Amino acid sequence: MQSFTLKSRSKFWPKCPLDWGVFTVTLVLMPTIYMHEMFTVRPTVWRNAPFFSNFVIYGGLFVFLNIVANFVGLVVTDTRVPDKVMSTVKQSPHWKYCDLCISYVPPRAWHCKVCKVCILKRDHHCLFAGCCVGHFNSRFFIMYLVYVCIGTLYCVISDSIFLINKVDLRFPSVVLKIGFPAFAYLSGVETFTNECFILLFIINLAAFIFVCVLLRFHVRIILNGQVTYDVKSSSSNYDYGKMENVKEVLGCRWYVAWAFPLVSSPLPRSGLEWDTSEEWKLKRQRVTEKSK
Ligand SMILES: [Zn+2]
Ligand SMILES: [Zn+2]
Repeated sequence: MQSFTLKSRSKFWPKCPLDWGVFTVTLVLMPTIYMHEMFTVRPTVWRNAPFFSNFVIYGGLFVFLNIVANFVGLVVTDTRVPDKVMSTVKQSPHWKYCDLCISYVPPRAWHCKVCKVCILKRDHHCLFAGCCVGHFNSRFFIMYLVYVCIGTLYCVISDSIFLINKVDLRFPSVVLKIGFPAFAYLSGVETFTNECFILLFIINLAAFIFVCVLLRFHVRIILNGQVTYDVKSSSSNYDYGKMENVKEVLGCRWYVAWAFPLVSSPLPRSGLEWDTSEEWKLKRQRVTEKSK
């Protein structure tokens, strides 16, 4: 089996104002929410449960480090079609021509108008990371979603208990406090600090729902050996079976790859050549026949 080492790109900052805005908000929110949960919510909510409070400290740190490290991996990993393989000559029957790169590119590579380059096994352009999700960084993308999902679920539960004890949530003032936080503060209905706590709860709840939907979609297409483009065009030409499809994203050591992004888990392919499902089945049959 070949293994392919990950390369980092030198210019990884977002390319357009929208990406910059979403990227900055994401960078600010991740540590803000972590600090709020650890140093404000946890000591209040779990003060009578020291064992669980300690579990939250270590478990929270593990989840937070995974969120940050997977985000960094997603942003800095180079998943572009390498310049050296860009060619005006078709290198293989499956390769196709990109009008914008003026070059032949591998199958499953698509051009991103924001990144202004073709991306290997391109899935989509991620606003939060300001880059494309493709062959080499899809592992970090999916694990980022998994850990954000776990983190925000915990935050929603602990924030709910925290707010019930701290804020008067009786009707009708609660509508004002949640729906119009600035007005609630300016009219003296609620304090500024409590409105900030309510706002963080709303952000966590919205992030949890959004990430759950996204995670469900991406887990389904990973298991089917698809990328977002394949769903749009209703094709599944690269479905190698669920186990192989998981390896194409998490790598050959998928069973430990989830633990941390620095755990080595080489991908089975370079991203330049892809067998179709039929070709892959034939290759497998030949290997099985030879081994008999
Ligand atoms: Zn291109
Ligand atoms: Zn892109």
